[in-house]
Amino acid sequence: MLDKLDLNTKAQELREKLGEDANSPVDIFSLVNQIKELTLVLYPLGDNISGMCLRDDQIKLIAINSSMSYGRQRFSLAHELFHMYYDNATGFNVCSKVLDPKSDNERNADQFASYFIAPYKSFRDAVKKESAGGQITLQNIIALEQYFGMSHLAMLWRLVSEGYLSKNSINEYSCGVKTTARNLGYDDTLYSPTPVDHRKRTLGHYLIQVDLLREKDLVSQGKIDELLIEAYRDDIAFGLCEDGGEVID
Ligand SMILES: [Zn+2]
Repeated sequence: MLDKLDLNTKAQELREKLGEDANSPVDIFSLVNQIKELTLVLYPLGDNISGMCLRDDQIKLIAINSSMSYGRQRFSLAHELFHMYYDNATGFNVCSKVLDPKSDNERNADQFASYFIAPYKSFRDAVKKESAGGQITLQNIIALEQYFGMSHLAMLWRLVSEGYLSKNSINEYSCGVKTTARNLGYDDTLYSPTPVDHRKRTLGHYLIQVDLLREKDLVSQGKIDELLIEAYRDDIAFGLCEDGGEVID
């Protein structure tokens, strides 16, 4: 397994390459729009798979399981970025939802994801500020995951990895999370899956390619619609405004 310093350095390098600073919380779904030729597919991949990554000279594709919590989707996207940029073993990965234990390669990708979402130094500073040097509480943990936008379980594993929590205490901190977050005044999006009618979606390069075909009049409108529908973009094919229309303010 790569050492943690190396993985943190890689995470910082990639953040900077994508136009982000090395320490702030990051909107990862927005950030991956910077990656030319990346197609991102959101799809309900079942109970066992968190995501997939396919890459070669022609294709860059990441799929994320949209039935996981939003926080876990963010973490999984960072995990798949490790495969995309730093994993030369194969051109294709199917990644398990289980956070521990795994192969060295999967552990590297998880540790990288953790540092990408919550960089080493800013994480240590945030823990110090939240816990004020005392025993870490569920409220502290929720504040940390809300700040960095990390799933609860991924945050617990990070705290274990940094020595703030014991592995045995993970269950103790896993109950009533969403309710406690609400009571503390936080938005609970982090703990919720994508709404069922939005779980299948394609974003990025694929749509640009379809739009080019349309612009250059290279295929019929029927074919364009077919390509969009195959990519779960009926909204574009049929000009639907599922969310109540456009508001420009
Ligand atoms: Zn993986």
